[in-house]
Amino acid sequence: MSSNQKKTVEEELVEQELAVAVAIVRIGLDRIRDAATRTEQTGPRVAAERIDAALALLGPLLTCQNCGKQGPEVEAMDDPFTSALFPEQPVHEQVIYCEPCATARFEES
Ligand SMILES: [Zn+2]
Repeated sequence: MSSNQKKTVEEELVEQELAVAVAIVRIGLDRIRDAATRTEQTGPRVAAERIDAALALLGPLLTCQNCGKQGPEVEAMDDPFTSALFPEQPVHEQVIYCEPCATARFEES
């Protein structure tokens, strides 16, 4: 949607809610980075391993909406089916799929 189109109140509220959610995620990522690099002796490799461990905790939060699997390979994405069929469409439904389900959905298209 271009910025000069008139937005509905609901669209404005959704945008505000998303902006707040993004700000919260940014704060969370900053805190993970700060905690991972807190001590003087933390080298980049140790910090990276700490950050990996912290982000791994986020994995189980996402559940594949097709098969119910949880894990780091489960991610939010544009619907692979509509993305393949209608690549010119600017916005696609956001879906949460594991890699095999995303591939299967893409192959259905
Ligand atoms: Zn799945």
